[in-house]
Amino acid sequence: MNNPTTNTPVISCRGLRKAYREGVDAVPVLLGIDLDVMPGERIAIIGASGSGKSTLLHLLGGLDAPSAGEVRILGELLSGQSEKQRGRVRNHALGFVYQFHHLLPEFTAEENVAMPLIIRREPRAAALAAAKAMLVAVGMGHRLTHTPGELSGGERQRAALARALVTKPACVLADEPTGNLDRRTAETVFDLMLQLNRDLHTSFVIVTHDPRMAESADRILELEDGSLRPFTRARA
Ligand code: ADP
Ligand code: MG
Repeated sequence: MNNPTTNTPVISCRGLRKAYREGVDAVPVLLGIDLDVMPGERIAIIGASGSGKSTLLHLLGGLDAPSAGEVRILGELLSGQSEKQRGRVRNHALGFVYQFHHLLPEFTAEENVAMPLIIRREPRAAALAAAKAMLVAVGMGHRLTHTPGELSGGERQRAALARALVTKPACVLADEPTGNLDRRTAETVFDLMLQLNRDLHTSFVIVTHDPRMAESADRILELEDGSLRPFTRARA
């Protein structure tokens, strides 16, 4: 599952449409999205609440199926794959960070971060060692054996970021990753993402309301009326 050439988008979608069924009606949310996420690229997606940003990330990550259109991860078409194959692609190529951390409460930070590696059947000791290294990288070396309940909000989000990155994914899909954090903690988490982008050449697709986060992306795209368009920054 290696990226064959650096010109292959890590994620690519064409004509992506999504409508949710509500009783007998189908409520359209996405009306045909085309997007290429290139290796190492940082894309910020902005848009009003309810405009379909989370829906788009779910489709790009293969967590939900589009009503029409196609998604490719490292050139491989997601549709037509079994749920098991899709799970494999997700585990190997993608990392996810959500607004809420989704850490497992009964496991330590180290075990939570090791989970994607354990799921792909890496030996437990190696998985825990990699998890520890990633937690150290996000400044959490002193919180390895704490459970999520014993961590602060910022620490949980850093652990969630470590978990998303421990597999060294080609792309991280982040849905308002700093939405629940105070400004300073948000900046720490955000700087960390930029650092990992530089060090590991990880692509990021970040849904965000944070102007600073959007400004530092390579591209800002705005989701509006079911379409994704380049966001033109207002000139100061
Ligand atoms: P955003 O993340 O931009 O706030 P969402 O993608 O969460 O927007 O939602 C877009 C629209 O789709 C909203 O109107 C929301 O109510 C609707 N929606 C989202 N998920 C579902 C679902 N599982 N079933 C029905 N409607 C949904
Ligand atoms: Mg959302």
